Amino acid sequence: MARPIDLVLSRLPRAKKAGAGWRAPCPNCGPDSKSEKLAVTEGDDGRVLLHCFAGCAPAAVLAAVGLAVADLFDRPTAAADASPAERRLRRVELELADVRAAAAALDLEAVVLEVAAEQIADGRPLAGPDRERLTLAHRRIGDVLLRLRAAHARRPRAAA
Ligand SMILES: [Zn+2]
Repeated sequence: MARPIDLVLSRLPRAKKAGAGWRAPCPNCGPDSKSEKLAVTEGDDGRVLLHCFAGCAPAAVLAAVGLAVADLFDRPTAAADASPAERRLRRVELELADVRAAAAALDLEAVVLEVAAEQIADGRPLAGPDRERLTLAHRRIGDVLLRLRAAHARRPRAAA
């Protein structure tokens, strides 16, 4: 299977090499824009990191090109001839990729909350864009919780 970076870049035809990664117009907020707001990099473990400088969530950027968060992570392909044990292992690996993606999203939003909390503690009111970013953080954390709850509900119950 192609590496996640190859898959992601194949959906970003206007991506250009920039330093250690690539830059491209963000397919979510400016697909026809000249400005390359999306930064794409490959992590040591093969995972792809996306950052839109206009603030789009990675899931929104991916959805705009028909991909999902799990596509950012290296994972084995599902083979039709896989044994039940192999399929189970792959399912667990996919779940782990989702959990890692959720943790990464929460990590980022936690920083936003921390910065906002510090500003409020310093007695500086949050201006419009900051307040909007805080609302976005709240929404993204809610999205992560919904995804995790949905993933948990999908888990097969272990036989008692
Ligand atoms: Zn964007």
